[in-house]
Amino acid sequence: MTTVALTIAGSDPSGGAGIQADLKAFSALGAYGMSVITALTAQSTQGVNGVHAVPPDFVEAQFNTLYQDIHIDSVKIGMLMNKEIVTSVAHLLNANPIANIVLDTVMIAKGGHPLLKADAISAIRDRLLPLATIITPNLPEAAALLDCQEAKNEDEMQRQGYKLLKLGCQAVLMKGGHLPSQESPDYLITDNKIIRMTSPRIATKNTHGTGCTLSAAIAALLPKHNLEDAVKQAKNYLQGAIEHADSLKIGKGIGPTHH
Ligand code: PLP
Repeated sequence: MTTVALTIAGSDPSGGAGIQADLKAFSALGAYGMSVITALTAQSTQGVNGVHAVPPDFVEAQFNTLYQDIHIDSVKIGMLMNKEIVTSVAHLLNANPIANIVLDTVMIAKGGHPLLKADAISAIRDRLLPLATIITPNLPEAAALLDCQEAKNEDEMQRQGYKLLKLGCQAVLMKGGHLPSQESPDYLITDNKIIRMTSPRIATKNTHGTGCTLSAAIAALLPKHNLEDAVKQAKNYLQGAIEHADSLKIGKGIGPTHH
């Protein structure tokens, strides 16, 4: 049976991040991809110039229309922009359960533009996080969710990961890309296991959409793999996409990865 994966996220017209990246990852990993769009952005590799949020009732209309027709095996949640949309998505997933929920706690684009209003962070933590099979915060996002200082080493990273797990999700993938170390360590934390996964750092500026791509890849793989395998294969997929990023040569700014 074909895996049907849904992304609930924002649009990146430059194709490197957001739903456009998610749909590419779904396809490449053998899933049939669908999308519910939460926000339009005007952006290129040089940054985000504007955001136009979709009214929450129309986010609901998109989801309900799909849900009534098509069985959804997994969902990846990305950019949600404001607390009204967060509340709508939480309501939708409570009323219409989906077996695999990957929550990418998107907050700020690499160029610095906010993709989530500050007052929506607590709604993500309180309403969406407890529904998630796995959340995939980077270190600034983990700190914002916990309202604490950003982790500066791997011990702090693990401690914060456990604190997030206690808030009610089934697993946490703490992404250590922001640590000032040679390798980029990630920790997969569940109730009974902690697994350290590292990837060598690749010298490229073209990393636009890496978080989107990883979380979408996990969502594509989760229905047919256990959590650990899904995360490892998704990381391999992203690693390949970053390794080949410089061959793409798209735009003048932070270009997309190649996948
Ligand atoms: N645009 C959209 C719609 C996104 O969802 C994201 C990340 O989740 C970004 C932009 C930011 O991508 P990056 O920070 O990798 O440049």
